[in-house]
Amino acid sequence: MEALKERILKDGKCLEGGILKVDSFINHQMDPVLMKRVADEFARRFASAGADKIITIEASGIAPAIMTGYVMGLPVVFAKKKKPVTMEGMLSTEVYSFTKRRTYDICVSGEFVCPGDRLLFIDDFLANGNAAKGIADLARQAGAELAGMGFIIEKEFQHGGKMLRDMGFRVESLAVIESLGNCRITFKQ
Ligand code: 5GP
Repeated sequence: MEALKERILKDGKCLEGGILKVDSFINHQMDPVLMKRVADEFARRFASAGADKIITIEASGIAPAIMTGYVMGLPVVFAKKKKPVTMEGMLSTEVYSFTKRRTYDICVSGEFVCPGDRLLFIDDFLANGNAAKGIADLARQAGAELAGMGFIIEKEFQHGGKMLRDMGFRVESLAVIESLGNCRITFKQ
């Protein structure tokens, strides 16, 4: 998606350790016009995937997920990082966070992720694929299926995309970064 790549080049910042900071338009301040274009593109790519619900993880996934849900006319559920005492039929799993360098739990209610659901997972970044594996585990526990996974930015050099595709998941990424070496952003052509 050219508009997204141009914005990443213009406003994205490389940090140490292969991290891309996109705080001015995705992760802190958000650009709703760009996010709508992201959602339109996910909707186009997953039009025939047969998804009936969108799933994401709080907090950064919520903006692209809700916009995609709006465009596709699908409900959106987000996995929570704190377990509410009021949650009924809780399903939970552990995820290792690459950016925070620690493991945390994510949970969803079995009320909203149900047997037979066809889930489309939407998130901001794909790095090592741990968040996506966590979502796949929640779907498995619920008896739901994953119709696809869509990421705004995939960092190909961290190999999560290869792992998920080898596991048989349909993965679509709108901007694929080949390298952040020497703090230069290089896209896959
Ligand atoms: P994974 O689980 O695929 O290793 O990492 C995905 C999660 O880590 C995303 O949900 C995102 O929040 C965070 N993440 C991974 N890499 C980056 C990055 O380069 N920049 C930012 N801002 N977040 C990242």
